[in-house]
Amino acid sequence: MSDITGAVLSWLAPRAGEMEALLRRLVDIDSNSFDKAGTDAVGDAIIEVLAADGIAVERIRKQGFGDVLRAEVPGKQANSYALMMGHRDTVFKKGTVATRGYSRDGNLAFGPGVCDMKAGLVANIFALCAIKAAGGLSFPVVALFTADEEIGSPTGRAEIETAARGARAVFNSEPGRVSGNVVTGRKGGGSFHITVKGRAAHSGVNHKDGASAIEALARKIVRLHALTNYDTGITTNVGVIKGGNTHNTVAPWAEAELDLRFVTLEQHARIVPEIEKIVRAEDVPGTSADIKPVAMFLPLELKHSEALFALYKDAAARVGFTVDGEFTGGCADSGFTAALGVPTLCGLGPVGGKAHTDEEFCRLDTLVPRTQALAATICTLT
Ligand SMILES: [Zn+2]
Repeated sequence: MSDITGAVLSWLAPRAGEMEALLRRLVDIDSNSFDKAGTDAVGDAIIEVLAADGIAVERIRKQGFGDVLRAEVPGKQANSYALMMGHRDTVFKKGTVATRGYSRDGNLAFGPGVCDMKAGLVANIFALCAIKAAGGLSFPVVALFTADEEIGSPTGRAEIETAARGARAVFNSEPGRVSGNVVTGRKGGGSFHITVKGRAAHSGVNHKDGASAIEALARKIVRLHALTNYDTGITTNVGVIKGGNTHNTVAPWAEAELDLRFVTLEQHARIVPEIEKIVRAEDVPGTSADIKPVAMFLPLELKHSEALFALYKDAAARVGFTVDGEFTGGCADSGFTAALGVPTLCGLGPVGGKAHTDEEFCRLDTLVPRTQALAATICTLT
């Protein structure tokens, strides 16, 4: 163990109380993805904590969504940096804190976004402070705090990709799995909005003059769902449909929301044109259809996480816990960095579960060791 790693681990060891206090503070600020004031208020709290330790934070202004923050502990040499990532937004609506703010029952903490991912923000902040307190590393350590991950990172993605291009490794502190594992593989996924136009007609008087948008959509759904292949990991799901005016009118319109999941970039390149072809086909004469992507996350492929995970496993052993890598069908920002070929590891935050529900929890006894393992892994990067 290098002196710096030892110093970082000892600096973090007695911080459980401080970490929980910051967790409580961040959870008790409503920060839905669409609540710019809320996500910016979480950002202000982060800036205050980092500034108190002399860590500079750049604020990248955004319209409509929360600003992106970039904090940096400079390196002793000009070298590519290590990048930590975290999102400040949650899926919970404004006002949630007033009825269901931070609470604690023994070792478990509750509250909106407590594990996804305010505990991860706390881990990144303390890892940064620990490295700063140890005098910094030979390379810079950067932390990016975005504000719109839960809706597909419409403004965060470009900042994430810019930051990742200059990074030697990326660490995303999404919640650790309930098993205690970290995430070494993630599916990519996208959502699409499908619109179908038909021709209205009275279904009794002149049925044959109509062109049913509902029938066209129904035929497309059957073909879209047939793309699902559990062996390859591709799934398609039309989860919402709407359409038509009355029971006795041939439907002039229909709409659908499609969710797509895939495992590799190669699958993505192949499946999206297939989907577009199915949607644009004129299944029912006189109808037409269009498809627009709403959001898209790229996959974290195992080949981009393997080497970092080996380092992390060693770091965890030094800290005193065993850990494995896990694959998940859920998507996250780590897919964007892995898709650029940058080594990426995810699910490094404190351990928790039931994200996106009222029962969401975080295991407080994991705050310090997970942060220690994260910081120690960064220290051992070569
Ligand atoms: Zn998350």
